[in-house]
Amino acid sequence: MKKCSVVVPCYNEEETIQIFYDEIEKYIPKMLDLEFEFIFVDDGSKDGTLHEIKRLANMDKRVKYISFSRNFGKEAGLFAGLEAATGDYIVTMDVDLQDPPFLLEDMYKAVKEEGYDCAATMRTDRKGEAPIRSWFARKFYSLINKISNADIVDGARDYRFMTRQMVDAILSMREYNRFTKGIFGWIGFKTKWIPFENVERSAGTTKWSFWKLFLYALEGIIAFSTTPLWISSLLGLVCCFIAAIVLIFIVVRAFIYGDPVAGWPSMISAIIFIGGLQMFCMGILGMYVSKLYLEAKQRPIYITRETNIEKKDS
Ligand code: UDP
Ligand code: MG
Repeated sequence: MKKCSVVVPCYNEEETIQIFYDEIEKYIPKMLDLEFEFIFVDDGSKDGTLHEIKRLANMDKRVKYISFSRNFGKEAGLFAGLEAATGDYIVTMDVDLQDPPFLLEDMYKAVKEEGYDCAATMRTDRKGEAPIRSWFARKFYSLINKISNADIVDGARDYRFMTRQMVDAILSMREYNRFTKGIFGWIGFKTKWIPFENVERSAGTTKWSFWKLFLYALEGIIAFSTTPLWISSLLGLVCCFIAAIVLIFIVVRAFIYGDPVAGWPSMISAIIFIGGLQMFCMGILGMYVSKLYLEAKQRPIYITRETNIEKKDS
């Protein structure tokens, strides 16, 4: 019998875990030829999340958990879960039921019968979301697809049904700065997209503020594209070109009309403009260097505090 591991990152989700478990239990009988395992990753929650998960684990032998020593972020949670998963198929989904379990059957069918390596889901709308947030999200997706080869679909969720082969490919990418949406796209494989209408959270609140999302978007761009570096070089080149023309103009003018001391405001504007541009470009460079710095340290992606999973021999 084939096994399916369900990887669920949880951060301060004490209210949603039981609801999630009950809901997904309803759909498991529809996939009778699969044996299930649940891997809950407690991402350093400050509420009773771990307690809830342990309670489930005591009742149900299929429930495994990993609890982090602090909050490492959803990306680290997903990585830890994928690493611990032992299934032939692996599902990643949120615990708040915004990734509806009723899609599982179709996703399984796509992988098992239709020959896909992965069934992925996307929201067709952004109902219940602030318009400004949706606008930024759309802009981000169109931008990152233009400037990187990560192939990220607008509205794509991290709700996926994957084969072991695909998960091994994900795990082989051991980068510290993990932008999972980009990694999924970058590794390729045949993916079937299953659209669904946005669902609101079952309980609790979103962990993403606008600012956090904005930084996340920047992270994605830095992780999967070097275009900003090109743009800053190009800006430098354009500035040099303009400076050369202005210089010729000034020299010629000085020869023809003599050179009364004037033009202080224009000089200051030019200096400030160029100074600003330099800072901007250095900032872009700095962002890449800082990522490089973090990668070079080779820190672990997460640190486990507690788990009921025995270490795999490797
Ligand atoms: N999550 C996590 N670590 C974090 C933030 C979120 O593991 O630092 C989990 C969270 O528990 C949930 C999923 O990631 O299962 C998605 O989070 P959320 O629902 O807050 O995001 P949204 O659906 O609003 O984008
Ligand atoms: Mg959610």
